Amino acid sequence: MKHPITEAIRIQTERTNEMEHATPLFLTSSFCFDNAEEMRAAFADETDDNIYSRFSNPNTQELVDKMVAMEGAEAGYAMATGMAAVFASFMALLKTGDHLLSCNSIFGSTHTVIKKLLPNYGIESTYVSADKPEEWEAAIRPNTKMIYIETPTNPGLAILDLEWVNTLSKKHGLLLNVDNCFATPVNQRPIEFGADLVVHSATKWIDGQGRVLGGIVVGKKELIHQIYLFCRSTGPALSPFNAWVLSKSLETLDVRMERHASNALTIAKALENNPAIEWLKYPYLPSHPQYDIARKQMKNGGGIVCFNLKGGLQSGKIFLNSLQMLSLTANLGDTRSIASHPASTTHAKLSEEERLATNITAGLIRISVGLEHVDDILQDIIQALEKCIER
Ligand SMILES: *Cc1c(COP(=O)(O)O)cnc(C)c1O
Repeated sequence: MKHPITEAIRIQTERTNEMEHATPLFLTSSFCFDNAEEMRAAFADETDDNIYSRFSNPNTQELVDKMVAMEGAEAGYAMATGMAAVFASFMALLKTGDHLLSCNSIFGSTHTVIKKLLPNYGIESTYVSADKPEEWEAAIRPNTKMIYIETPTNPGLAILDLEWVNTLSKKHGLLLNVDNCFATPVNQRPIEFGADLVVHSATKWIDGQGRVLGGIVVGKKELIHQIYLFCRSTGPALSPFNAWVLSKSLETLDVRMERHASNALTIAKALENNPAIEWLKYPYLPSHPQYDIARKQMKNGGGIVCFNLKGGLQSGKIFLNSLQMLSLTANLGDTRSIASHPASTTHAKLSEEERLATNITAGLIRISVGLEHVDDILQDIIQALEKCIER
């Protein structure tokens, strides 16, 4: 077993007779067998031969093998989007009557799945607060089956102590399922802290260039097998082309994330005392409330910086309108820096109360720090912040 960074570069699906250096794209719906016995054995799960691309494909398998090595997992399965991965991890492992414990700051669509869809199947849930760990144990019920968390959280950048959450989940015999999208496996490996499952939106930092959607779940073999059986029948398979793109992207993930993080740290330090900003959060700033935990479990502070504008909703709109280079778009984790204002966009339909329940303040701005020269990113943000004060 080599270092995970090497595995991300060197793991490769079987080459064809042409011995291509880069893995070819296997655009095929199904795979042939030499004879009836080989085909029977494959269908009986006695071999891992590819059968049909809804089940597996050499390109998706290469991506999975790399992610398994990078996260230190036993097995994995790749899907069309991050949400497919999140949903499959719930539907394959929870059943009617089960209870899910989660944290109040989670990705918007995950919140919709937990609160609007899971109840249709008789699966209940409780949210606990990221900054009140003392509430968590009391929220566990006899029918609680899984703890589902993000750390750092999107978009509020709260850090949850993986070691502590794992101890709690093991004490009560619960599955710990961690969305590791914000940190990526080169920055944080939840399985080392005891997580049973790790889910990813590969759409974000893993692709890193805003091209394709993808999702993946890795973890314990027997849990992944159940997720695989669920997906094999329900069909959220990742396309081989997207898998091929994402597998190539993993080869540069470590170097990209180092630069994203160093740019983000420079920006966080430079903006921390800006007069237009009420508070700013970045996991690797000593002022972050969970700075010590971030230092313990993350290799760097990641590529996201968030801050709250003193002027609230109005300033949020002025800020977005004043940006000259940063993109206004619904993605994150791109070479191009992106600004978003959840209160006027992704979370605009929520009531003030609902927004605050998920830690979205009216002046909250999330910056996904890109790979442009840091001076240019900073200059654009600073001039837009000046406009927020002038009004
Ligand atoms: C984007 C995102 C998802 C969903 O991923 P998609 O690929 O858009 O389906 C899940 N979790 C987090 C933290 C995300 O940022």
